[in-house]
Amino acid sequence: MRFEISKVLDAIESRVCVDPALTRAVVDLAEVVRFVDLDGGRPASMLRLGMVIDALSRQLEEEGVRVYPVVHRALLSDADLTSNERMVVRRWADDGLVEVLPNPADRVLEVADLLGLPVLSRSRFEGSQQRYPWLTKQPGRLLAPVPGPGGPTLVARVGKDSSPASAERSPVGVKLLTRVWRCSEPGCTLFGGEGGGSFADLARVERSASAQPPPTLRTGAPSCPRHDCRLSDVGTRPGIEVLSVRVDGMVRQRFVVAADRPVVVGRAPENGGGIILGPWLTDEARRWISRSHVRLELHGTDLIAQDVSTNGSGIRPGGSMDDAERVTLVRQQKRVLTTGDIVELYPGVQVGLSRNWSRGGVVNPTSVMADAPTMTMRAVDRR
Ligand SMILES: [Zn+2]
Repeated sequence: MRFEISKVLDAIESRVCVDPALTRAVVDLAEVVRFVDLDGGRPASMLRLGMVIDALSRQLEEEGVRVYPVVHRALLSDADLTSNERMVVRRWADDGLVEVLPNPADRVLEVADLLGLPVLSRSRFEGSQQRYPWLTKQPGRLLAPVPGPGGPTLVARVGKDSSPASAERSPVGVKLLTRVWRCSEPGCTLFGGEGGGSFADLARVERSASAQPPPTLRTGAPSCPRHDCRLSDVGTRPGIEVLSVRVDGMVRQRFVVAADRPVVVGRAPENGGGIILGPWLTDEARRWISRSHVRLELHGTDLIAQDVSTNGSGIRPGGSMDDAERVTLVRQQKRVLTTGDIVELYPGVQVGLSRNWSRGGVVNPTSVMADAPTMTMRAVDRR
């Protein structure tokens, strides 16, 4: 029983991050865990974060969507959570997957403003509407998670359309995200401080170069939201492109190719770290697609696809569905992709820039809690 809950929390863990390129909405975790009416259960439950992620996934019609949780420090010792849940939140904090802060309400809006993301909250943020006019002016930027007929649903505060909407990053957000920042606090998991020197810490610091969250602005100075100290500017942030895997018209996963981090896509790429297509493929596609099939890398601003497969890949220039225009890439051949180009590993199995596909095309995304479909009710009854 407890083991099963851990599995669900592990699945939810894969859907939380503070990477500006991958996250799709900002949530105040301490608020979300107390939406008792979503399931009628315990006063606080981490499973409600999964329910809100599911609602976002359904409304974006996309699999695997991630959220940016801002966490009130008090949640780490909240007696309404189980000890297992508290342990998980602490682990997320230690791994830099969430921000833990003394005053999260301001930060939720700041992150949403800097990154142009929607906020999922029941608050109307009345005191902040002048500072952040999009709260009341832009449809889809403030959505309230509420119970619905088919599970929790997101309802817009402005207008009738409840599609979650992103906007351009604010000019300040764009500027902050061109640099790599360093926190003076040893072991800072958000802005790679000096660290404890362990291998895990080094890996974390390396990862954070192109995936750092936006700094907070304290009296205009870029600062660490967790440690409340000024950050130092340690250089230019590596360039990135955000890509999506689309299988039979459905966006299954987003991923980032950074200047310092090429990505291999295939049935089951060797050495971990790659994009694993296996679970989404038909038997025929699985036979055709190599374990490592195509490698994507960024050279300056050039996004390059290189075939590393046995059977070859195709490029659909500008996303053209005309087979006569499809270009074949044979093993080891490279090609610079232009906006709109789609790499096709097998008919219907595609990789392209995420911005090419405005809707995910998934009618019924898999629940993040699918590992244990009956868990939600049982978990809330028995504690
Ligand atoms: Zn810090």
